[in-house]
Amino acid sequence: QSIDRDAPIYVAGNRGMVGSAIVRRLHTLGYTNIVTRDRASLDLLDQQAVRRFFREERPACVFLAAAKVGGIYANSTYPADFIYNNLLIETNVIHAAKEAGVDKLIFLGSSCIYPRDCPQPIREEYLLTGPLEKTNEPYAIAKIAGIKLCESYNRQYGTHYISLMPTNLYGPNDNYDLQTSHVLPALLRKAHEAKLRGDSKIVVWGSGTPRREFLYVDDMADACVFLMESGATEGIFNIGAGEDVTIRELAELIMRTVGFEGDIVFDTSKPDGTPRKLLSVDRMHMLGWRATTSLSDGIRRTHESYLAACGATSS
Ligand code: GDP
Repeated sequence: QSIDRDAPIYVAGNRGMVGSAIVRRLHTLGYTNIVTRDRASLDLLDQQAVRRFFREERPACVFLAAAKVGGIYANSTYPADFIYNNLLIETNVIHAAKEAGVDKLIFLGSSCIYPRDCPQPIREEYLLTGPLEKTNEPYAIAKIAGIKLCESYNRQYGTHYISLMPTNLYGPNDNYDLQTSHVLPALLRKAHEAKLRGDSKIVVWGSGTPRREFLYVDDMADACVFLMESGATEGIFNIGAGEDVTIRELAELIMRTVGFEGDIVFDTSKPDGTPRKLLSVDRMHMLGWRATTSLSDGIRRTHESYLAACGATSS
């Protein structure tokens, strides 16, 4: 199914790490009519504003990459913000898209929608087969609601809304706030600052034993556009790198990349979260997509963009 390269494509969340990567990818592929709005000009929590926007812009296709996201601490501390904001953004955008006749929408979720203790690697059909991880259950419930919105609109209205569930993402434009970020940007910043200060150690939360899978955000953007261009019309698709590492291994890799030679101290008063989260990417592999950026390359590129954003140099 070919997509008109001049048709308006709306990327919601274009200021975020994923949305900005999707915009970059669309530009690279020669899409010319990319519609974006920053938060000041379109509040996605405002149902009327969202409806008006869709009526005026009439996008042919939507990437829903706007969301309230954060790491394990942010999710445990602000559960109401996570469930409320995400439910509103999804319902407002998906319903307005349907009303405006949008045929194709790509909804982005997260691997935390799957049961905490489900078999690994995690297949799409494990959704709703068991209890969720408590530290981010409100966020996960909102994202599951988003999947069910897409499925329900497809069933009732004949739309083609699909859901992508990425593993832990990282890359340029990530959140580096030490309280609210995810583990990879947090450890990159901790190692960088420890090196600058001449510290002897960095603190890593939890035991270091949980396993996580990390995907470079440009690979995610590639998967998003790939699916939009594919003939896929419904369903859930996991997007991952296909392999995972322990948090300790991740910390060591980041320290090597940054050039920080101190020790790791584990703060076991902080939660570990789910013990393992590795996605099965068979469904995407069957369609012909796979991730191409290795974890070490991705961390190197992320480190470069972090240094550029800090205005520093790597020497
Ligand atoms: P999760 O994948 O939803 O659990 O989210 P995170 O990316 O926030 O955390 C992943 C794992 O990394 C958890 O076991 C955390 O305890 C651990 N971790 C270690 N150090 C840090 C840190 O500085 N920040 C965060 N966010 N997590 C850390």
